Amino acid sequence: MKTGRHFLHIPGPSNVPDRVLRAIDRPTIDHRGPEFRALGRAVLAGLRRVFKTAHPVLIFPASGTGAWEAALANTLSPGDRVLFFDCGVFSGKWESVAELIGLRPERIEGDWRSPIRVDALAQRLADDPKHEIRAVAVVHNETSTGVTHPVARVRQALDQAGHPALLMVDVVSSLGSIDYRHDEWSVDVAIAASQKGLMLPPGLSFNALSPKALKARASAKCPRAYWDWGPQLEANEDGFFPYTPSTNLLYGLREALAMLEEEGLESVFARHTRLAKGAHAAVEAWGLEFYCTDPASRSPVVTAFLMPSGFDGDAFRKAVLDRYDLSLGGGLGRLKGRVVRIGHLGNLNEMMLAGALAGIELGLGDEGIPMKASGVAAAVNALRTVGAPAHA
Ligand SMILES: *Cc1c(COP(=O)(O)O)cnc(C)c1O
Repeated sequence: MKTGRHFLHIPGPSNVPDRVLRAIDRPTIDHRGPEFRALGRAVLAGLRRVFKTAHPVLIFPASGTGAWEAALANTLSPGDRVLFFDCGVFSGKWESVAELIGLRPERIEGDWRSPIRVDALAQRLADDPKHEIRAVAVVHNETSTGVTHPVARVRQALDQAGHPALLMVDVVSSLGSIDYRHDEWSVDVAIAASQKGLMLPPGLSFNALSPKALKARASAKCPRAYWDWGPQLEANEDGFFPYTPSTNLLYGLREALAMLEEEGLESVFARHTRLAKGAHAAVEAWGLEFYCTDPASRSPVVTAFLMPSGFDGDAFRKAVLDRYDLSLGGGLGRLKGRVVRIGHLGNLNEMMLAGALAGIELGLGDEGIPMKASGVAAAVNALRTVGAPAHA
């Protein structure tokens, strides 16, 4: 018998606010009728503001993986070279999608623990005088590692090389949590999903486009049916979709967009940065090792730490779930068992974060995992914005 509430602190799906749940709890309407038109237009316009773009944003009733495929299939042809960075599990999964649909992915090596190597990208672009690289694919926030990568610097490298490759960016775990500027950074296709910073249940994903991406579509030969942008763009002009949309999730999206606008996007980003400082202070005080080795690149939405040798991250997560009803993220892929991830994104405040950190501290004690000092006390001091810090 569990009492109180569950603490969901995985890095997505994130907590769905009551306001969004209430908005979803409404009768489903005719998706080709007049009432739907207003809903469709509102969410399509609201999304453009969140992506900071004046260009089209498309909505798929799918998870983020679908939007990865849509981005590639609409702009490229079989055999095209796409450059990825070896920076984590999500980048690797996106690369597999590219391979499966007949593209030729190539990878810039990395250690997963530090920012992607823009110098190595510049070198690779300089070695491509015939412009065989048709796209560069970057994950803005690698949710598997807790490292945020420098998208604006990738743009600069492409510009400095005078290289025409498309720039594609996965913003699945950054949109609505970490500053992302689609037009200012001249990103050609951005990929996002509903279940992270947008505070919705899983089930929607997005492509934000650029005029260059739309132009690329005209000659792109990858087969595409469900993912084709053409019918979407046409139907979206009137606020509709070419096939049955997730009407109730769109009610939720309209509400989530309203919440982001009421708080103000810049305040949302500042809140994530502030709460992340609390999580980072806790990990530091416990004396655990951050997976991310560059403090300036630590993610504002997820903190990954290494388990001390001799301890298994998944056993630790199971213990805190069983005893404290707290869900933490595990290590993915080759990080399985080695890394634990604290999600701190979306609909979150100081108390929720402090509760999660207290659950981790309890679990560390229970499992006999050595701690240097109280991470909760350190986090409380880091989160304090009024008055003097308490004695440690
Ligand atoms: C969560 C996540 C995805 C998710 O893809 P799904 O198909 O929605 O599971 C993709 N990229 C990143 C960086 C993510 O964090």
